[in-house]
Amino acid sequence: MPQVRRELSENIRNVARNLTTSSIRPTVDELDQSRSFPHAHLTALGDAGLFGIAAPPTLGGQMADARSFVGVVEEISRAAPSTALVYTAVLSSCLPLMRHGSEKQKSEFVPKIALGEWKCGVAISTHPGGDQMNGDVIASREGDRFRLDGAIQYVIGAHGLDSFLVRADVKGEGGGPSLFLVRHHDAGFQRGGMDRRLGLASAGIGELRFENCVIGPERVIGGIGKGVEGNRAAQEYLLLGVSAMALGMAQECFDTAVRLLRETQNEYTSTELALIRQNVAGMQTRISAMRAIADLAAFHEDTDPPGIPYPTYRGRIFCLESALEVAASALQLAGGKGFSEEAMIERMLRDARVLAIILSTTEQLKDALGEFIIRGE
Ligand SMILES: Cc1cc2nc3c(=O)[nH]c(=O)nc-3n(C[C@H](O)[C@H](O)[C@H](O)COP(=O)(O)OP(=O)(O)OC[C@H]3O[C@@H](n4cnc5c(N)ncnc54)[C@H](O)[C@@H]3O)c2cc1C
Repeated sequence: MPQVRRELSENIRNVARNLTTSSIRPTVDELDQSRSFPHAHLTALGDAGLFGIAAPPTLGGQMADARSFVGVVEEISRAAPSTALVYTAVLSSCLPLMRHGSEKQKSEFVPKIALGEWKCGVAISTHPGGDQMNGDVIASREGDRFRLDGAIQYVIGAHGLDSFLVRADVKGEGGGPSLFLVRHHDAGFQRGGMDRRLGLASAGIGELRFENCVIGPERVIGGIGKGVEGNRAAQEYLLLGVSAMALGMAQECFDTAVRLLRETQNEYTSTELALIRQNVAGMQTRISAMRAIADLAAFHEDTDPPGIPYPTYRGRIFCLESALEVAASALQLAGGKGFSEEAMIERMLRDARVLAIILSTTEQLKDALGEFIIRGE
């Protein structure tokens, strides 16, 4: 990577790190307990220019790269996985607009997201073939406009974001799916569902419902039946973001466990300490491997080659499995302190467990990856 890109990426990570310390970490537990959407966190991220890292300067951004995105998500996740997930969804909404929108759509919509004015999420398929959804929205043509009806479950930021890229098939027309940009004030658009959940309590996960929701052609991204590539671009950024989240959560759990161990190491026998050292070294080795594999996935996203995104899928599989392992080991190492004093490890364990089933489960991704490998694709 050229030196100048690396420096930009490091600078952006530092901005995210400082912001996390000053504005995000202090309010995380309160938001998690009240299951409140992190509006203030998103405002702070917008003020710091961090929604603009995928967009070029001409569209209100700073044209960084996927590596910078990974750095920002990792830093936020060390304190607030729910906020990091919502941030990931917003960044992912930029990709289809930038890569597949018309010139008019790009110049009108991308700056609004990049400058933090609009907080746009995605309701797309995240399954490897891109052909399954949790729910269904159908678009019916009405003159040159489209009426959306149906619902999609498990949408990140459903309760909190103000716009969504929604994937829908147009009734009676061939071709692929289409991507519609829906705004919160559009008539016939509603949010609902999912009041209680296992983890990621502040991510506003819920359902989007459409009933007679009419959208004009100017908000069909890339044209009717042309949503496959946009879906793919957003899907891959979501999976990359989730890998970065896993990395940040594992690093935070590890650092906390080591800090607690330093305070208590005099209480252990030399045999116990030998076992602990093995464990600590294994955890750190795994985190290094996660970092390397997430870096490869980011590089893949920046070059955006056609075909199966193997590095992105592998990154998601490995990072999530590793995060669960590291978080569990951290809790074990921290012992009673991990249980009683460090609410963070408990929250990370919950959030990491849920991450492994969202946006396609680890098993579904492995199944698809294995199939691609055997078919020789
Ligand atoms: C918070 C959240 C956010 C989500 N966001 C999105 C989104 O943005 N876009 C989207 O498309 N979906 C999203 N999902 C849906 C998610 O992809 C599904 O929950 C997941 O695919 C499991 O599907 P299911 O609930 O129908 O369970 P099932 O498909 O019935 O799966 C149940 C179990 O069977 C296993 N299984 C299923 N298929 C296979 C296979 N081929 N090989 C091995 N094991 C398998 C699964 O791993 C799981 O353990 C989200 C889900 C959640 C909870």
